[in-house]
Amino acid sequence: MSDKPAILVVDDHEPALYARSRVLEREGYTVLKATSGADTLVMAERFRPDLIILDVHLPDINGFEICRRLKQNPATSSAAVLHVTASALSSESHVRALEAGTDTYLVEPLDAGVLVATVQSLLRMQAAEMSLRKANSELQRSNQELQEFAYIASHDLKEPLRTVRAYSQLLARRFGAQLGEEGNEYIAFITNATSHMSNLIEDLLVYSKVGSERQRVPVPMEGVLSRVISNLQQAIEANGAAITHGPLPTVQGAPDQLEQLLQNLLDNAIKYRRPDVAPAVHVTADADDRAWRFCVGDNGIGFDEQYTDQIFRMFKRLNGGTAGTGIGLAIARKVVEAHGGRIWASSQPGEGSTFFFTIADEAVE
Ligand code: ADP
Repeated sequence: MSDKPAILVVDDHEPALYARSRVLEREGYTVLKATSGADTLVMAERFRPDLIILDVHLPDINGFEICRRLKQNPATSSAAVLHVTASALSSESHVRALEAGTDTYLVEPLDAGVLVATVQSLLRMQAAEMSLRKANSELQRSNQELQEFAYIASHDLKEPLRTVRAYSQLLARRFGAQLGEEGNEYIAFITNATSHMSNLIEDLLVYSKVGSERQRVPVPMEGVLSRVISNLQQAIEANGAAITHGPLPTVQGAPDQLEQLLQNLLDNAIKYRRPDVAPAVHVTADADDRAWRFCVGDNGIGFDEQYTDQIFRMFKRLNGGTAGTGIGLAIARKVVEAHGGRIWASSQPGEGSTFFFTIADEAVE
């Protein structure tokens, strides 16, 4: 078929079919013709026209039903549909037509100028929708590729890193005495760097996996918080941290991802503590416009609010001295966005920070 838009004209009344086809052919369109509903379905699937001009009253299948079937079939769903009716549609039929997937309708007798202008406008809309669909599937494909790349790269980096770590440990054990103070210091640098890299790789792996689990189940957030507190027990005890919370709801989500999210926020709340004040972290949730809004507040070092957007970016760190990979909040953001929510923070340097995130929930008013 040529690259001119193709239009399938359907009418069981031959003179009308002929007249419409002539008008459109004169405009340079490739025109295909059908005289029954059954023919329409076969030809639409075979020739994939850009637009179908459909008489509502066909002898075999009702026009609305044809439209519904066309829209249900992935092979024909992208064609625009223009209904032609003998009389103006009642409001009820108008609703039925739109629900069946009709893009618009015209009433007979058709004015050639109006027909051509309507066809042009529908084809413009159809072309815009097609290019959007194409861009969308291209984006999905490249996201998937990136995710796979991050996963494979981080996975493959683990092995050589294990070798570096094992041999530097062996070097320290077998030749530590000969290497002297300076040599041992160098080995300590290598060991620290490999631990840091190992943390980076683990975090990158977690980041690359977020979003791939799309199944949503009811997740009681109080249970999630208990697990996080138990995971962080060592840090909580070492810092004398107090973790308190208000009533937390059950949300629809991926349990492991939500645990990771809360853990990253709590881990930071303890890690970015003020030296002379024991960390106190409070977690609350309230209903907010079809979503749950959670707050994780701490009394730590805080940060300058001008950096709020930056800290959710990958590798962005404000406190170089404290151990970390700069990926924790990027993971948090990815989890929240995969749950249809958003994440943000407010802070006062020296007074503490509050991190907020929402988890979409249709049941919340
Ligand atoms: P990491 O903690 O590994 O550096 P994150 O992505 O978790 O990486 O955090 C990014 C940066 O945001 C941190 O380096 C820190 O500067 C800042 N930050 C995060 N959480 C807090 C907090 N609760 N209080 C103060 N600063 C924080």
